[in-house]
Amino acid sequence: ESFQDIAMGDIVMSNIALTRYTRPTPVQKYAIPIIKSKRDLMACAQTGSGKTAAFLLPILSQIFADGPGDALAAAKDNGKYGRRKQYPISLVLAPTRELALQIYDEARKFSYRSRVRPCVVYGGADIGQQIRDLERGCHLLVATPGRLVDMMERGKIGLDFYSWITFWTSLFPCREHCCHCLSQYRECCVLSQIKLFLDYLVLDEADRMLDMGFEPQIRRIVEQDTMPSKGLRQTMMFSATFPKEIQILARDFLEDYIFLAV
Ligand code: AMP
Repeated sequence: ESFQDIAMGDIVMSNIALTRYTRPTPVQKYAIPIIKSKRDLMACAQTGSGKTAAFLLPILSQIFADGPGDALAAAKDNGKYGRRKQYPISLVLAPTRELALQIYDEARKFSYRSRVRPCVVYGGADIGQQIRDLERGCHLLVATPGRLVDMMERGKIGLDFYSWITFWTSLFPCREHCCHCLSQYRECCVLSQIKLFLDYLVLDEADRMLDMGFEPQIRRIVEQDTMPSKGLRQTMMFSATFPKEIQILARDFLEDYIFLAV
């Protein structure tokens, strides 16, 4: 078997050739056709199995095929691909800074010589710089859940109700402006510059994210107001194990999914 058998676009194929991956690993061989067929996926795969490329390759090849950041497409598309700004089309949540950076590096390799712009945000680094980087436009965002919620609460990324409350009380610590709730809310929505109108959502190492206590953050991100509901986005979960909590998350976030164990 070769990557040729899993037909993907020219940019992806030539970038695979540059990485010198000769043949797909088992998780790539089975997951890529499932993702290409637009089904939701719950994949049990270990670190080192090649799972990162298993979700990045089909997502990037679809983004390339759709014509990323194309000015004409942007004009036709009512704001989804950004008026002035490119919003993320794809979000990958990962438990740690190290994993997020690994995914980002792989995404950069596969989007070489394309107009797709991957970005990465994680805790413990300058948030202002990460926000400025995102504001330059981003197609594929790799994030740790804590940092992304932090950005929501600062009004920089699609706000949810709780982010708005946090944001509003930080603006008005005296809480005397409640009569202006609605106008403040509208203002915050405008301030929230980067929306998550996602086509693709990936939860990588989902079991580790739950072990690290990220479930509330993950739920806030997935349930924030610009997130398309399940079935309208394509959702992929990767996890080394499949305990009860992961099954519940899969039931809540995935629509009619295919289960893959390699
Ligand atoms: P991952 O499981 O995604 O963390 O990948 C583990 C390692 O395998 C990474 O260093 C990848 O660069 C590498 N890798 C992924 N897919 C392939 C492939 N098809 N052929 C050779 N190496 C690969």
